[in-house]
Amino acid sequence: MTNRGLFCPAGDFYIDPWRSVDRAVVTHAHSDHARPGMRNYLCSAEGETVLRLRVGAKSAIQALEYGEVVEMNGVKLSLHPAGHILGSSQVRVELNGEVIVVSGDYKTEADSTCTPFEPVKCHTFITESTFGLPIYTWAKEGAVFSQVNDWWRNNQAEGFASVLYGYSLGKSQRALAGLDPGIGPIFEHETLRPYTNAYRSAGIQLPKTKTIGRAKEDFDWATAMILAPPGSMTSAWRAHIGPMRTAFMSGWMAVRKGSRGRGGQFGFVVSDHVDWPSLMSAIAATEAERVLVTHGFSKTVVRYLRETGLEAYELGSEWTGEQE
Ligand SMILES: [Zn+2]
Ligand SMILES: [Zn+2]
Repeated sequence: MTNRGLFCPAGDFYIDPWRSVDRAVVTHAHSDHARPGMRNYLCSAEGETVLRLRVGAKSAIQALEYGEVVEMNGVKLSLHPAGHILGSSQVRVELNGEVIVVSGDYKTEADSTCTPFEPVKCHTFITESTFGLPIYTWAKEGAVFSQVNDWWRNNQAEGFASVLYGYSLGKSQRALAGLDPGIGPIFEHETLRPYTNAYRSAGIQLPKTKTIGRAKEDFDWATAMILAPPGSMTSAWRAHIGPMRTAFMSGWMAVRKGSRGRGGQFGFVVSDHVDWPSLMSAIAATEAERVLVTHGFSKTVVRYLRETGLEAYELGSEWTGEQE
């Protein structure tokens, strides 16, 4: 780890660096991992379109198919699906038979909006730990999205528009895939549009959406579901839309469920990261003898892994977990 980010000296490249470098291998397009200003980028072919939205359309990007191997100064590098958002990758690095895998952000439960996570065997596994505490255990996404659809139907029956807050890249498209378009029309906030379109152009099947500004003047918003990034429903939008109910989708809702959190926010527990049980099974599946733990509850995870007999260390980074 250097002050620019995670560095591979033998291959002369960085993984998800936070300061400008010549060669950046980028695991996925969330802003804490994909920053503008790198001279050259390398990412998965599935993730190229969304990465360009983040770092600039004209950036120099080399795209690799999952599993395709490139050599960098004798280091073999390949990308493997991480199941986190469209195009998210784990980075496999091999030199003289020694294999290191960097997880990026990942989720082992498959969903329809990206290629499912693939376990990769290695000697050293560098894992995120955003939700690395046993209290974070997710329900199956089908069960959660059926709650979301019930909430929408109920709001509709009581005359309220439904506003579902989620991060603009990944979470909102996954929510869209889980919504039942038979209930009513689905709108999205303008800022989500480019990402949703990138998902569609990558062949991900999503229900039809309109942007909020495109509705007719006398539109009855009480029938509608509106997807929007956190904090985007300004008072002007509220005045335009009328009575609404809002809910937030996040893994953090696991500890606020049933209660009204700050700001009276109602929530659904939807996360694009591994929960505690899948974090432990993912680590076991790598068969790694050494585990380096980064962003999240790394201290706790390291202590737990050591108790189970693994060699484990914390690895500081400027990656931040589930936020934007
Ligand atoms: Zn991420
Ligand atoms: Zn992250």
